[in-house]
Amino acid sequence: MRLLITGGAGFIGSHLTDRLISDGHEVIVLDNLETGRIENLSAASHSGRLTFIEGSVLDSEIVEKLVAEVDFIYHLAAAVGVFNILERPLASLMTNLRGTEIVLDAALKYSRPILLASSSEVYGKNTSDSLHEDDNRILGSPLMLRWSYSQAKAIDETLAFAYWEEKKLPTRIVRFFNTVGPRQLGAYGMVVPRFVAAALDNEEITIYGDGNQTRCFGHVADIIDALISVANSERTIGTVVNIGNNEEISINDLAKKIIEMTESKSKIVYLSYADAYKSGFEDMERRVPNIQRIKKLTGWSPTRNLETIIRDVAEHLQAN
Ligand code: UDP
Repeated sequence: MRLLITGGAGFIGSHLTDRLISDGHEVIVLDNLETGRIENLSAASHSGRLTFIEGSVLDSEIVEKLVAEVDFIYHLAAAVGVFNILERPLASLMTNLRGTEIVLDAALKYSRPILLASSSEVYGKNTSDSLHEDDNRILGSPLMLRWSYSQAKAIDETLAFAYWEEKKLPTRIVRFFNTVGPRQLGAYGMVVPRFVAAALDNEEITIYGDGNQTRCFGHVADIIDALISVANSERTIGTVVNIGNNEEISINDLAKKIIEMTESKSKIVYLSYADAYKSGFEDMERRVPNIQRIKKLTGWSPTRNLETIIRDVAEHLQAN
């Protein structure tokens, strides 16, 4: 098959590119290299089956041309990372709203099936034990920029769903929970590469807030398996599935585990949210996915634990 991956030079996109190429497919990557990096595609570029286009999903002419050439679209391009969203709210909203509109329009024009990447951010402050796809969203004020990513992704989902309902365009939606692994950058806020990098250098590990907030971390290799299983199943058309690992850990315990595993001399220090982010920032206390739906529809479930994630991230950082 020929596939288009928007955002294919990013952390998740480049792992997907590698996998699809090693499965024998041809891949076109469209990426503006804002948060994506060309080095992420260096292995894929030697295959002879990768076409890289530096460009934006906001460029409808390019998007239409590429969509016309492929059998399937993975729309992963988005402005990501809490720091990025807070620093550049307008550009982020434009990419995440208008960009998705342009890609969906093109998919409809050429009748191409599309998988849209959404996010667990859509659940907002819902701290349920096990967030189910149909659960309520709990958000703060629209003027609190923290929620702008959640809002944009929610509209994207509704748009993709409406394309299926009204136009019968085969759309699939996935909600990524925290995904970690080699190539992820700490620069945009992501906690695991930040903590591991600090631990390897024996530098202070900075926890925001009191560290009692929890997260569940999925290994990017598991997440890629999940993405492909969703794309390959007819049963996932017109629906949304959570993708993530449901092993929960507090940020305090995460820091301790990373220090222990890397045999680091790092000290843990604490920083208030107000100092870490812009004032008025609200963190998510907890975010645990319910992964029954994807399991039922595709048979997928995660196989790699947090130790494997930390080891792989540490090995990648040391090698680079
Ligand atoms: N975090 C932290 N120190 C850091 C980076 C992040 O304590 O250097 C915290 C952050 O406040 C959040 C958690 O780690 O509670 C996960 O942050 P990340 O940005 O990785 O993901 P998200 O908040 O989107 O789940």
